[in-house]
Amino acid sequence: MAIQTYTGGCHCGDVRYEVDLDLGEGGGKCNCSICRKIRNWSASVKPEAFRLLQGADAVTDYQFNTSSVHWPFCKRCGVRSFGHGDIPEVGGKFYSVQLAALDIDDEALAAAPVRFSNGRDNAWWHEPSEAEKKFL
Ligand SMILES: [Zn+2]
Repeated sequence: MAIQTYTGGCHCGDVRYEVDLDLGEGGGKCNCSICRKIRNWSASVKPEAFRLLQGADAVTDYQFNTSSVHWPFCKRCGVRSFGHGDIPEVGGKFYSVQLAALDIDDEALAAAPVRFSNGRDNAWWHEPSEAEKKFL
């Protein structure tokens, strides 16, 4: 695969963005406290690869714990289609997009690899149990 530009956004359309990413690298799923609840499946990119086209004022921000990551969601439809943060351990500033919120067909999405990590136990290099992976 190669880096391509995709569009995406929330359910109601108030939030729209463009992102350059390699879908062949897939996206991460994790069992940490928030990823599990929102069934996070996202890919991270450098800030310059993400362009918010509209909706800067349409979102409510959410942060917790160390506040190193922003988890904004649309005020109207509630969909959390992207996030951003700054974590030096993983390379500094980044944006992340929900792969299921991109405007792409089912086949392309199904072909994107899933990478699991055990964020709950801070063991990012390990996968959660097979049972847990089923609902992440
Ligand atoms: Zn919306």
